Amino acid sequence: MSRQYGQLREVGSHALITKSGEFICRAFEIETGEPVVALVAVRKKSQSCLLRVQLACLYGHAFGSVDCDCGEQLTMSLDLLQRSGNGVLVYFPSRDGRGFGFRMKVILTEVEQELGVGPVTAAERCGIPYEDLECLAIVPEVLRLINVAPVVDVLTDNPEKIARLRSAGVVVRRVIPLIVDERHLSNVGRRELQEKASRTNTERFSDSRPDISPTALDDSDRLS
Ligand SMILES: [Zn+2]
Repeated sequence: MSRQYGQLREVGSHALITKSGEFICRAFEIETGEPVVALVAVRKKSQSCLLRVQLACLYGHAFGSVDCDCGEQLTMSLDLLQRSGNGVLVYFPSRDGRGFGFRMKVILTEVEQELGVGPVTAAERCGIPYEDLECLAIVPEVLRLINVAPVVDVLTDNPEKIARLRSAGVVVRRVIPLIVDERHLSNVGRRELQEKASRTNTERFSDSRPDISPTALDDSDRLS
């Protein structure tokens, strides 16, 4: 049943079984009607919660495109959230195109291919920033409604996301890099990663992979 909480209306919740395991799907709408989905895998009490915030990517998430790292990142995230025993994915279904919407995504992709450039240059040519993360302002309200731990460890390689979450009021204890194996990507996907790394603040940890062992994730329960 639909319920209103401040800016958010909860549309409903239900179990959802994925290849990574079972989540509780909590579906919300912002006042504008924009959907926000939280996939919750919380099986134990903890002082902290593992959080992944992801904007939609139709090509990477639904079509399995390897021209970007979105599909790999989502799969890795869901696995890690399940393994942590205390994880949440906050997903923005209508924020494709790095926040600018699907229409802009198509335009940017066309520019990339016609000019043979990466996404940063394509965004510059279109006169827009690389990404629009304004939707992250609603994340604290989502976390409060789903009643997870107030302190989070965030899965990301994007410092801009961390800055946005912190300025919105999320208490980020630790940043856990989410690095995709470039061998799983096309040449276009690899070029995108390289361009992001060289021209944005995106952090690359080329010498290390995240430690995704259960032991490492258990460590996230101990406040440091
Ligand atoms: Zn993508």
